[in-house]
Amino acid sequence: MTDLFDDALKRVRQLSDSAGIDPEVVESLMKPKAMMKAALPVRMDDGSTRYFNGYRCRFNDVLGPTKGGIRYHPQVSQAEVQALALWMTIKCALLGLPFGGGKGGVVVNPKELSPMELERLSRSYMRAMADFVGPEVDIPAPDVYTNARIMGWMMDEYEAIRRVRAPGVITGKPIPLGGSLGRDEATGRGAYLCIRQLAEKRGWQPDQTRVAVQGFGNAAYHVARLLQADGYRIVAVSDSKGGIHSEQGFDIDSLWKEKQSSRQMRAVYCEQSVCQLIEHREISNEELLALDVDLLIPAALEEVIRADNVDNVKAKTIVEVANGPIATEAEAVLDARGVTIVPDVLANAGGVSVSYFEWVQNRSGFPWDLPEVRDKLAQYMSRAFEQVWQIAEAETLSLRAAAYTAALRRISEATTAHGTRE
Ligand code: GLU
Repeated sequence: MTDLFDDALKRVRQLSDSAGIDPEVVESLMKPKAMMKAALPVRMDDGSTRYFNGYRCRFNDVLGPTKGGIRYHPQVSQAEVQALALWMTIKCALLGLPFGGGKGGVVVNPKELSPMELERLSRSYMRAMADFVGPEVDIPAPDVYTNARIMGWMMDEYEAIRRVRAPGVITGKPIPLGGSLGRDEATGRGAYLCIRQLAEKRGWQPDQTRVAVQGFGNAAYHVARLLQADGYRIVAVSDSKGGIHSEQGFDIDSLWKEKQSSRQMRAVYCEQSVCQLIEHREISNEELLALDVDLLIPAALEEVIRADNVDNVKAKTIVEVANGPIATEAEAVLDARGVTIVPDVLANAGGVSVSYFEWVQNRSGFPWDLPEVRDKLAQYMSRAFEQVWQIAEAETLSLRAAAYTAALRRISEATTAHGTRE
């Protein structure tokens, strides 16, 4: 597999050329501004100490403090964190947020840790990063296999180290610690809003639109739930162990409840109630990606659609809820086939948008109600979607090229406006 960061840089170079971005600005986007790497000691329940590799990258901060999640996954690497931080830079710029891009990660399989070990790891991460993050410097959030509880522990650790209240140091927190209403559903809702706008442009009828969702984490659940409520048929879902397919469509809320209680999709669906109600077949993740559906939503990890399996993909529209699910080489094939791709930097930007609202609420000390959060999210998403759509039409670009064009132009203006600090 190509290095994810190299792939991400290649994309920026290519798209900067077509967007007419000043080469000096492009050069400034080729390296992260700062990278922190630390061995994180964790006292395990058996009394031994283990060391986990932790990373935090502040990629580019010309538009504001860097922003982006922290991922816990065995495949985390420095290259991955840097690629994700670069994509956050593009995403925040595209959405018009006053943030640069950052990202963090720990090389760990969190499913192997006890809750106490998970708490100690999260605190250890923040102890290592306390001088590197901050409400005006770099603001983490949840990502793959991290959640509100983990954000709460990290905020608590930061406040203990600094001896101040600092809810704005992290977003995606539990509500009683200054989290925002609507943050948990925000990534899925943002993607749903994009799909609604696309459906309007394309004249789709929800009940005739068959959807496959790869992944069944928080973002996947909310986008599938909202689509289903509008009448879309969710004919396949999967998790890391495999998936299920039914032409009748699944009831997403029942699947989610089963998954929450069992934590293992295939076993539960197939042995217990939900599956028995519906005729379905078991499929692998590869089979899910190859289903003949109208809309494919990869919502798990990066590079699941690659040069070696892109020819199997039959969907005419792909909405990237995961970050980077389509490798650059595979994208060229899909573009040539006329497949519409709603890119990650737009489709999954609802999460960081509501993170921004959370940070604003923390700074003003005035929490918003849920309708206000949802209204503002809808405004931000529709503004970004329309902008991307218009650039794509006017300059005959793919939606990804249009999204990068809008973002890179904004970053370029800010870079020039800063001037040169020697
Ligand atoms: N991890 C999410 C993303 O990739 C959210 C980041 C944030 O809220 O800062 O966009």
